[in-house]
Amino acid sequence: MNLVLMGPPGAGKGTQAEYIARKYWIPHISTGDMFRTAIRFGTELGLQAKTLMDAGHLVPDEVAIGIVRERLAERDCAKGFLLDGYPRTCPQAEALDQILASWNKSLDAVINIEVPHEILLLRLTGRRTCSQCGANYHIQFNPPKKTDLCDICGGAVVQRSDDREETVAERLAVYARQTQPLTEYYARRGLLKNVDGAKSLDEVFNDIVTSLK
Ligand code: ADP
Ligand code: ADP
Ligand code: ZN
Repeated sequence: MNLVLMGPPGAGKGTQAEYIARKYWIPHISTGDMFRTAIRFGTELGLQAKTLMDAGHLVPDEVAIGIVRERLAERDCAKGFLLDGYPRTCPQAEALDQILASWNKSLDAVINIEVPHEILLLRLTGRRTCSQCGANYHIQFNPPKKTDLCDICGGAVVQRSDDREETVAERLAVYARQTQPLTEYYARRGLLKNVDGAKSLDEVFNDIVTSLK
């Protein structure tokens, strides 16, 4: 299955993506995670992305398109993939269509997780992320078993530098302006599956699975 997972920052994409990837045996491809890894390793790409991400802005389309094209060409994507956090702009969506068409492939569905603004603010400011493996937690809704330590790898669980309140507002505005309009693009092609993301983790996952049947 070739899937895209959409939704504003804090909607639960990363969390649900892990469940979906495990259920359908497809790789979870998060452009945000790829940029954060590049930052951690201090690569050219990381240096380029860091300032933009910390300000809540998007990295340039050519950069995002380039890493996704390379990643989708890898062998583990042959039987399907789940994109999380890409596309975020019209040019990115068009580039994805072209990349897939050049391999005689296309998208099967676009899952759009919808969550009201006030809940997004709570989720983003309470989000904590493992500095080692990237696993997601929430201080209130999904805390690690041992305070500030990752359940999976034991790494330190920290706040992402772009989850501070000042940056969060900018990221939500960028989403509304540049990414939200893409839902129309996919709805017109009959690919869009809207899911109520304000429910519990398990309920949202069940609704996603049902929408894919
Ligand atoms: P995104 O990848 O869309 O930005 P995340 O998956 O990182 O979102 O989720 C944002 C925060 O909200 C995390 O701290 C996560 O643990 C928490 N969260 C995700 N889904 C739910 C949910 N259905 N109910 C409560 N908290 C959630
Ligand atoms: P969230 O799910 O909370 O919005 P992500 O981890 O998906 O966060 O993205 C974090 C940041 O990485 C974004 O705010 C943006 O700066 C950058 N980024 C991730 N994916 C893309 C993309 N497809 N195009 C441009 N910038 C991106
Ligand atoms: Zn971890």
